[in-house]
Amino acid sequence: MKVSVVVPVYNEEANLPLLMDRMETALKTMGRPYEIILVDDGSRDKSLDLMIGFTSRPGVRVVELTRNYGQHSAIMSGFSVVTGQIVVTIDADLQNPPEEIPGLVRAMEAGNYEVVGTVRQMRKDSIFRTFPSRVVNGMTRKITGVHMSDWGCMLRAYRREVVDRMVESQEYSTFIPALATLFAKRMTEIPVAHAERHGGVSNYSMFKLLNLQFDLLTSFSEFPLRVLLYTGILLALGGFAMGVLLAVARFVYGAEWAGQGVFTLFAILFFFIGGLFFALGIMGQYIGRIYHEVRKRPRFTIRNIHEAR
Ligand code: UDP
Ligand code: MG
Repeated sequence: MKVSVVVPVYNEEANLPLLMDRMETALKTMGRPYEIILVDDGSRDKSLDLMIGFTSRPGVRVVELTRNYGQHSAIMSGFSVVTGQIVVTIDADLQNPPEEIPGLVRAMEAGNYEVVGTVRQMRKDSIFRTFPSRVVNGMTRKITGVHMSDWGCMLRAYRREVVDRMVESQEYSTFIPALATLFAKRMTEIPVAHAERHGGVSNYSMFKLLNLQFDLLTSFSEFPLRVLLYTGILLALGGFAMGVLLAVARFVYGAEWAGQGVFTLFAILFFFIGGLFFALGIMGQYIGRIYHEVRKRPRFTIRNIHEAR
């Protein structure tokens, strides 16, 4: 079975030569056909030229995107051109050791799995990365209902059928590990090593990470809209109950106790504010649905595919 490796690349000129050497060595030890698909996600450094140079090596193809679409869309564009039966994704910055690829493939075949995830052992990231990561992992487990412990690690293996289904799904906001859970049943995860970034700097700012998580939340669940809806219902009910309570107390203790109606005004206010939230929540539900329908935009546009002739 042929193995395809998909690598998203955004300004990684410092890492590409070593990455290619280590990847090829690792892939050759498996003694089976392989291909390497490098996706240039609109790099602004010499990454693309370097990658085009690599197409002279066997099995290397380069997908050149028209601009920077983000890591997950870049991987998806690579998925759209794979020819292997087992597809592995890996970061270009050597934080995921390429030497783990054969183990990933072995685990997949040994257990006849459709997806093999990984758990990074002794993560080499700062607390600013690992703490949000824990929150996100918990959230993703809840949203997808799948018990994997490390969703952020992009060193993963997928069966070709799962990859094809993801490409066909046309989902715009893509968080690939979560998307895969919609199309696969047999999943497992194995421990892998983790390293410091080899060269260059991380392409993810805190803001980009936050956006990615928000994408994940909004594209896999309507939970935020429901929160709005239920907050509204609770507020309105609370306001109504408070009104009733005040009315009763007003007759028992007199107008003086009720602060000459100030609190009654509050009760009325809460009731209407609750109603407002409720209306917003309902509208949000519909807008959410429309949003789902409208998102049929292309997730990426391929400018060119470079390969040896
Ligand atoms: N990447 C990409 N497009 C982007 C940002 C990142 O293709 O807009 C690639 C990047 O080249 C690397 C991988 O995604 O191969 C992971 O990025 P990075 O190492 O910056 O993320 P971190 O490890 O800091 O989470
Ligand atoms: Mg990295």
